[in-house]
Amino acid sequence: MTRPRKWKNVCCLPPVREFGPLDPASADAGVVRMDVEEYETIRLIDHLGMTQEECAERMGVARTTVQSIYSEARRKVARSLVEGLPLIIDGGRYRLCEHGEVCRKHRACRRLQGAPR
Ligand SMILES: [Zn+2]
Repeated sequence: MTRPRKWKNVCCLPPVREFGPLDPASADAGVVRMDVEEYETIRLIDHLGMTQEECAERMGVARTTVQSIYSEARRKVARSLVEGLPLIIDGGRYRLCEHGEVCRKHRACRRLQGAPR
């Protein structure tokens, strides 16, 4: 029996969930599907500049878990770019955060930015 995957804390859903080549000739080559929690690791680590440790604390999982989610996310971004495939962000096993202490500490929420602390 496989161990059930733990729910990952995610701050917000991506504002855009579908990306793709502008050239219609490249359609039908397939798509790359990314989980919302994979997107969240890219957002926290690459976009906000967090360490994997901070990202793990933020998402409520072990650093080794973040490491594997993040490497899968990067593999998918690379595949989309290199092979010219549409990227769709959807699904996964996550819950939206309630902007508690950990979230505030890392200022990870787009919705919290600019809000009084
Ligand atoms: Zn949050």
